[in-house]
Amino acid sequence: MNILITGGAGFIGSHLCEKLLADNNRIFCVDNLFTGSYDNIRHLESNQNFKFIEHDIIEPLFLDEKIDQVYNLACPASPIHYQENPVRTIKANTIGVINMLGLARRHNARFLQASTSEVYGDPDVHPQVESYRGNVNTIGPRACYDEGKRVSETLCFDYRRMHGMEIKVIRIFNTYGPRMAFEDGRVISNFILNALKDENLLIDGDGSQTRSFCYVDDLVDSITKMMNSDIDFTGPVNLGNPNEFTIKELAKKVIELTNSKSQLIFNGEFREDDPMQRQPDISLAKKVLDWEPKIELEEGLIKTIENFKIRLKI
Ligand code: NAD
Ligand code: UDP
Repeated sequence: MNILITGGAGFIGSHLCEKLLADNNRIFCVDNLFTGSYDNIRHLESNQNFKFIEHDIIEPLFLDEKIDQVYNLACPASPIHYQENPVRTIKANTIGVINMLGLARRHNARFLQASTSEVYGDPDVHPQVESYRGNVNTIGPRACYDEGKRVSETLCFDYRRMHGMEIKVIRIFNTYGPRMAFEDGRVISNFILNALKDENLLIDGDGSQTRSFCYVDDLVDSITKMMNSDIDFTGPVNLGNPNEFTIKELAKKVIELTNSKSQLIFNGEFREDDPMQRQPDISLAKKVLDWEPKIELEEGLIKTIENFKIRLKI
């Protein structure tokens, strides 16, 4: 199959490119390298089934080769990056998604949109089920991303209603693993970097806020299962690992696994609109996709720490 992956030079996208290449597909990897890096895909360039196209999805894209499937992952994903230019974030999730839906429509291709647990905002239903409509602040600093992703879902369903397109919507929960960007401020990359350097781990608030972390290989497996699921199963479907940890527990685990001398420093203040609890209910994915994550946090952290050590040459 000919498969277009936008955001393919990013963290999750590069793992997806790898898996789909290994499955003998031709991959067209589109990325503007805003938060991604060519280093994430350099090892794929010698494969004749891999083609990199530097392009911003906010601009229309025309490809001569017939595309069978589009995975749309292009969007800055960490708070510091998506807040750097919030209007661009909104454009990626609206104009960019329209451009990629348009491309998929011209090619009669199946389209998968990477949405997020952020569509639930700071949830007052726990764990989060797909039918929960969320608690998002429309005017806060996270809104460019949260509301952007909500519109991206809407667009998929409108294209399906208007044009009969085959669409799939996934809501990804916090994912981690090798190739996470060092400088994107996400909790796992920050903690591992600091712990490896014996620097203190800075915890927002009192560290009681929770997240549920999914290892990237598990996530990529679920994404491809969703893309190739029954035509009538559109989602949205939650994809993530339901094992929930407080940020304080995570910090202690990282210190233990790195044998670090780092201390925990609590700054006492939560980030604005920070979700206090996040845990996916993955019953739907289990039932329809016959999928559940296999890699526990400790095992995934060990693999991620090894990758960080190699990249830091420690
Ligand atoms: P990432 O930043 O590593 O990857 C995003 C990629 O998209 C980068 O390579 C970036 O350069 C590219 N990009 C950004 N804007 C673009 C544009 N306008 N045109 C072309 N390329 C563009 O982040 P990631 O963690 O790999 O996230 C991938 C997708 O998964 C994103 O859509 C994100 O919203 C979603 N997601 C990720 C997580 C997570 O925990 N990692 C959670 C929920 C949702
Ligand atoms: N966080 C923290 N210290 C850090 C980075 C993040 O305490 O160095 C907290 C952050 O306030 C949030 C949680 O960890 O409560 C997850 O943050 P991240 O940016 O990784 O993801 P998101 O908030 O988008 O889930």
